[in-house]
Amino acid sequence: MFSQVAQNVADRLFKSVKGMMLKKKAGKIAGFPRFKPIERMKSFAYPQFGFKLNQKLGLSGMGAIQIKKHREIAGTIKTLTIKRMPSGKWFAIFTSEIGEKQVSQKDILPVGIDLGIEHFAYLSDGTIVENPRHLKKAEEKLRKTQHRLSKKNRGSKNRKKAKFKVAIAYEKLSNRRRDFLHKTSRKLVENYSFIAMENLNTNGMARGFLAKSILDCGWAEFSGMLRYKAEEAGCEVALVEPALTTRTCSNCGSIRKKSLAERWHKCACGASMHRDLNAAINILNRATAGHAGSRADIPIYGMEARKASEEETPTHKKWASAFYERGSPAL
Ligand SMILES: [Zn+2]
Repeated sequence: MFSQVAQNVADRLFKSVKGMMLKKKAGKIAGFPRFKPIERMKSFAYPQFGFKLNQKLGLSGMGAIQIKKHREIAGTIKTLTIKRMPSGKWFAIFTSEIGEKQVSQKDILPVGIDLGIEHFAYLSDGTIVENPRHLKKAEEKLRKTQHRLSKKNRGSKNRKKAKFKVAIAYEKLSNRRRDFLHKTSRKLVENYSFIAMENLNTNGMARGFLAKSILDCGWAEFSGMLRYKAEEAGCEVALVEPALTTRTCSNCGSIRKKSLAERWHKCACGASMHRDLNAAINILNRATAGHAGSRADIPIYGMEARKASEEETPTHKKWASAFYERGSPAL
């Protein structure tokens, strides 16, 4: 083993012990890091050198290894991590340093995004991003293999085989989901210059009964992708407090309790729209308070309902993007 790889293992151990101590100090329950046999080792890292990338990947202590190079690596390579997936595939992950990119200037086109379960996302200009159907298929496949695994005897060979099948199904699903999230976030940062979304505390939310679907949607991952992609594309992402975005009327600001089954927002002020569209507009309003074109004049927390006669054209109509047809799943 190359010396720095071994050092990296020690670093990780130190980090996990330190993490446990910090948790205990904070009064949380934390166990001592468990011993990991070699089968449980998922990755190892070359933090500085000890590797060479040509047609093959040369690893100090291991020799040259055949690789499939997916793309040329831009910039100066800094670190290498070798990762093993449960499906048995190995990956070489490089991090590299690249110079700052020129950010292109765009017209101001703000949008609010409401992430949901019925649709993946609802945009404040009326665009709907659906959950792709092939994801559901992959989910079903995963569920089937998991069910089969549950029927196998512990320690049996058949169980091992079934476990492998679960690993493959899981990998396929997460690859597809990530692909969808990458493409969707890319389109958004290319088409809009200002994106407002809820600051989702998925840790807190996932404990509720919606746990599974929230984690499955990959919202946290999506939010992360949006933010780093936005930086490159000259787009701004604003995170707003999620409280009451669904209950507040985006037109008059009045607040009313809604059950989860209530899919349509209808208000005494005359506003009538999809529940998630209402939320998306609220999210945008909250983020653009003070910006040009904002509807910050509407009291978001105010209880005073506007009179229907005072109603004006909602600004979000003007922002309907040329890239999408209103209401169609263009993404
Ligand atoms: Zn209203």
